[in-house]
Amino acid sequence: MQKLQSQPDKQGHFGPYGGMFVPETLMTALKELAAEYDRASKEPKFKRDLACYLNEYAGRPTRLYFAERLTRELGGARIYLKREDLLHTGAHKINNCLGQILLAQRMGKRRIIAETGAGQHGVATATVAAMFGCECVIYMGEVDMARQALNVYRMRLLGAKVVGVSAGQRTLKEAISEAMRDWTTNVRTTHYILGSALGSHPYPMMVRDFQSCIGREARRQILKKEGKLPAAIIACVGGGSNSIGIFHAFLNDKKVRLIGVEAGGRGIQPGDHAARFAGGSLGVLQGTRTFVLQNADGQIELTHSVSAGLDYAAVGPEHAWLRDLKRIEYTYALDDEALRAFRFLAEKEGIIPALESAHAVAHAMKLAPKMRKNQVVIVNLSGRGDKDVQQAAGILKLE
Ligand SMILES: *Cc1c(COP(=O)(O)O)cnc(C)c1O
Repeated sequence: MQKLQSQPDKQGHFGPYGGMFVPETLMTALKELAAEYDRASKEPKFKRDLACYLNEYAGRPTRLYFAERLTRELGGARIYLKREDLLHTGAHKINNCLGQILLAQRMGKRRIIAETGAGQHGVATATVAAMFGCECVIYMGEVDMARQALNVYRMRLLGAKVVGVSAGQRTLKEAISEAMRDWTTNVRTTHYILGSALGSHPYPMMVRDFQSCIGREARRQILKKEGKLPAAIIACVGGGSNSIGIFHAFLNDKKVRLIGVEAGGRGIQPGDHAARFAGGSLGVLQGTRTFVLQNADGQIELTHSVSAGLDYAAVGPEHAWLRDLKRIEYTYALDDEALRAFRFLAEKEGIIPALESAHAVAHAMKLAPKMRKNQVVIVNLSGRGDKDVQQAAGILKLE
């Protein structure tokens, strides 16, 4: 049996996926980053420093909470929530940002750049940059800046410069392109903190490693609480970092079903969703070969999701590979289902999830009732919903 927690090859291939599809000028920077990461990850001191920041600053380990009322309401499997929403800045993104800023310090790079869609990764990056006293520039599409004005203000409050991107759809994809352009020009002084398990090698591997603390903790916690492994783990999949982060420690536990939930939007028609495995095909986008939403000519399709953090045309390459190997199953939840789950969790447990995480909750609401009462399900609650309350207020009318 193939061991699934293995590393990609030297060029970052996960089977036929991944790789380094970037201009020559970035190749040197990416190789330097890969080499530094390789050195750092073998040093006990780097691991100790990172663990210290994760614990003392970000608030790890996060709780694995037994959702008793949710379990009772759904009438099936026992549901646990991995509470990444309780971390500093409100989502799992800080795990990766702390890892990468420590690497940037080692490389002597004092200028930090990042892309952001909904603003969550921008806020997490601006946060760690402030804490380390680094200059910080965040690229964000102009449409997203208007939608997420509060996060723009938050980043500025943290001392970051937020640069609006006016090209194309003026959302996440264009922001990534602009960040890559900046990096190409300023590579000597600058580190690019990419926000998901996406893009060119070494990012998919490195971001996965920085997020895999989620699964290591969850594994230990569930064994302690239940004395056995869960029957299933459910996580939402945007670029794929919170999901691979919780799945990774369980890849070799063949009896544990791993289920990734993409954004089904208004339904699986071109332009109405962001479910790459439901409506995508093999292609190359922004540094990596993976499943991409594109038309027959390879033009990237428009995407839609009620949750900005899942609204991207490509999925992380390791996911494509683990899907081929039939180790992770992928499904999607529609906007309406996610909104219903958003409200349900708020009412039943007093926890308002991020709309992204609500996609995972929505799938748990379908699956748990069909399972036995002695079975266990873990849902990764990747973030909290404070950022989404204003948007939800415009959609869900409450009396
Ligand atoms: C960014 C984000 C996501 C999606 O990104 P992944 O890399 O797929 O995890 C999911 N949930 C929250 C709360 C986010 O902020």
